[in-house]
Formats: sequence, structure tokens, C-alpha cells
Amino acid sequence: MKSFACGDVVPGCHRRFTADDQEGILWQVAAHAREDHGLEVVPQPVVDAVIAHIR
Ligand SMILES: [Zn+2]
Repeated sequence: MKSFACGDVVPGCHRRFTADDQEGILWQVAAHAREDHGLEVVPQPVVDAVIAHIR
């Protein structure tokens, strides 16, 4: 099981995600970024930061 806290990349955001694997996390984060952070496309540096904080 993998987990990621959005607040590790976006200070002040309290959403947390869990999934069976990294891809599941990234899928949820992409939807969250679009709906809650207004990012139609998640920039690659943000994707890299997310991956770095998945545990
Ligand atoms: Zn967030």
C-alpha cells in the first residue's frame, strides 16, 4: 500500500491518498489537482515531487 499527502507538495492542502501502487496515487492526484488546484495538466516537476513523497 502506498500513500501520499498533498500537503508535502502543496502547503496547506490536507488531502491524503492511498492506493495499491504509485500509478494509483498519481491517477488520484491528477484528478485532485484538476478539481481542487485548477491544474488541467500536472507539470512534470510536480509529478516528480509527488513521486518523491509517496511512501
Ligand atoms: Zn491538494
